[in-house]
Amino acid sequence: MQKSDLPSKLCPVCQRPFSWRRKWAKDWDAVRYCSERCRRRKAGA
Ligand SMILES: [Zn+2]
Repeated sequence: MQKSDLPSKLCPVCQRPFSWRRKWAKDWDAVRYCSERCRRRKAGA
C-alpha cells in the first residue's frame, strides 16, 4: 500500500506538477494553479 496516492495537476503558469493539499479538499476540481502567486500571475497577464 502506498500512501502517495494523492491526485496531482500541472500548473499552467510555472509548468510544475503539484499535489493535492488539504486546503483544496473542497474545491480541488476548481484548482488550476499550484499557488496563489501563480494564480495572480495568470490573472494579471
Ligand atoms: Zn505554479
